[in-house]
Amino acid sequence: MEVVRVVVGPLATNSYVVCQGDECVVVDPGDEGERLLRALGGRSLVAVVATHLHFDHVGAVAHLVEATGAPFYAHPADWRIYKALNEVAPSWGFEVPELPTPRDPGERLWLFDVLHTPGHTPGSISLVAGDAVFTGDTLFRGSVGRTDLPHGDWRELTRSVCRLYQLPGHLVVYPGHGPPTTIGSEAAGNPFINADVCGNERQSNRY
Ligand SMILES: [Zn+2]
Ligand SMILES: [Zn+2]
Repeated sequence: MEVVRVVVGPLATNSYVVCQGDECVVVDPGDEGERLLRALGGRSLVAVVATHLHFDHVGAVAHLVEATGAPFYAHPADWRIYKALNEVAPSWGFEVPELPTPRDPGERLWLFDVLHTPGHTPGSISLVAGDAVFTGDTLFRGSVGRTDLPHGDWRELTRSVCRLYQLPGHLVVYPGHGPPTTIGSEAAGNPFINADVCGNERQSNRY
């Protein structure tokens, strides 16, 4: 499996072109659709998937779907509140993109196991395939997703990040912004949520 990171748009969103043989999936086509199409290098696009429906992760979805006919997947919990999720975008000077109606990714999509990892948004998902996990804005190198935007929830985010830490430590984390990391290094040293916090979470859930 080949993973190409393409940094796009005004918020420097990571779009990932993930290919196996002649087939590719684009994860989080935030912007710059033509660049993403070029990164396919003539291979076929079998799906477009958003880790969540913030505007900076979906700006090129319509472009890719129109150009290739590939289906678009996103968690229904975000789709139901798409406008509300992005209500701050216009005040930041950004347009909220028009999207084709997404399909529910379910638990399995192409090579990916789909994990529901809510908190940053209610419908945030993480995608696991081979030695890679695409975490969107749930987990970053040295940070975690913000929960102060509409429908963010810190307790849910903590639970989701702790769930990601159950994955094998060698998995490479490809986040929605910034450089890659690994599950093991974040579980050990993430300054916001690390494995110690998860231990405490599990304890406090007993009461
Ligand atoms: Zn986001
Ligand atoms: Zn983002």
